[in-house]
Amino acid sequence: MKKLLVLFMFIIAGILLIASINQMNTTNERIETTKLQSDKKSVKVLEGKTIVIDPGHGGKDVGAIGQNGTQEKDVTLQTAKEIQRELMKQTGANVLLTRDGDDSKSLQDRIDFTEENDGDLFISVHYDAFTTSDVNGITTYYNKSEDQILADIIHRRLFNQDIDAKDRGVQHGDYFVIRETTAPSILMELGYISNIVEEARMNTEEFQQKTAVAVTEGIIEYFSK
Ligand SMILES: [Zn+2]
Repeated sequence: MKKLLVLFMFIIAGILLIASINQMNTTNERIETTKLQSDKKSVKVLEGKTIVIDPGHGGKDVGAIGQNGTQEKDVTLQTAKEIQRELMKQTGANVLLTRDGDDSKSLQDRIDFTEENDGDLFISVHYDAFTTSDVNGITTYYNKSEDQILADIIHRRLFNQDIDAKDRGVQHGDYFVIRETTAPSILMELGYISNIVEEARMNTEEFQQKTAVAVTEGIIEYFSK
């Protein structure tokens, strides 16, 4: 009799488990559908737009070097590729990189590339450095006053991603690439290579992914206005 009771309880537990799995699947499907719909909406906003992502430095110009050997030119390229992947996944934009390998490109090359391809937006990706290792944080720069709104949006989106970094804010910067490019342009300094904590963070998949999502969402918001 006891055996029968145990068996009965097992059967009931099994039925409950199957029912809850089914419930979970339905919820997942619903989330998936919502996501697809929002993706479709985004595609429309950026359809026909050309976004140029500029990985800072490259080739002989390695940029800053971290205490654990991270070279700025490598992380900027990684970030740019992540942004390109996310933008292409979420939107119908044409996304170009000013370099997609370890190539030397002058600042003028990067501007010329953007002009030749009729870029609608230009984002230069960098990582900061300072003479002392205690300085840290993320800064977004604009040059032309009309580009401050783009900088504000993307900077806010970055910190909305729960990135555990000091917020150095949006600042005006006299950088050649964002001054001379016709399209709306910003330059991002996504943490200090010279700071050991930030060097470690920039090399994580989590940080790269959050950055890519933030930039993508920011660009969608910018063009939706
Ligand atoms: Zn740099």
